[in-house]
Amino acid sequence: MKSCTVAVVPGLILLLLLSPCLVRGRSQFVQVRVSVRNASPLLPSTLKGAEQVAGRVFQRAGIEILWVSCGVGAADEPSAIGCSEVSFPSHLHLQIISASRDLSRSAVGAAFLGKENGGCYADLFYEPIHRLQEVSNVSPAVVLGHAIAHELGHLLLGSNSHSPRGLMRGHWTRHDLEDASKGRLGFSSEQCLRIAARLERGETDTR
Ligand SMILES: [Zn+2]
Repeated sequence: MKSCTVAVVPGLILLLLLSPCLVRGRSQFVQVRVSVRNASPLLPSTLKGAEQVAGRVFQRAGIEILWVSCGVGAADEPSAIGCSEVSFPSHLHLQIISASRDLSRSAVGAAFLGKENGGCYADLFYEPIHRLQEVSNVSPAVVLGHAIAHELGHLLLGSNSHSPRGLMRGHWTRHDLEDASKGRLGFSSEQCLRIAARLERGETDTR
């Protein structure tokens, strides 16, 4: 197990990209477990939809995300064991809270990176995501799903992982969100390969 928590990578605001991610030469999906704790007003149905959206983004990169619901009172959850385990890069954690205490109002998330240039924990912020959905008229599940994929991307790619375009761009535009709603926003081929390489070096399950 590797601990994670040091530098905070300010999340995005808005963004886009296009090319589906094809990881050549791989016949298996690598599985990554992601525990999710919702401590915000976000509806469970919206969270479920967002997980499906984020899952599809990662499927295009050859990765299957296994979601673990941890709720607010994790100790009371049936999957509480999965809510306490953490291991980079095979078991990551997301927390959805109302707003960031430290980052700008427009930041929709933050990833916490450790010394080994990866991380296990990321936060998503409900209020800026809700505002984004209102001004863009894109569904909250699509906005949140791509924000989740973006922050998980930070955890798996490590520091300096923003890119000029695509899912990992630091600031999304309205056009980017429209593309997201059409399923066109994803990791670049280079990012897919970097993530695949890190996962293959880690202890992950395959199917
Ligand atoms: Zn970011």
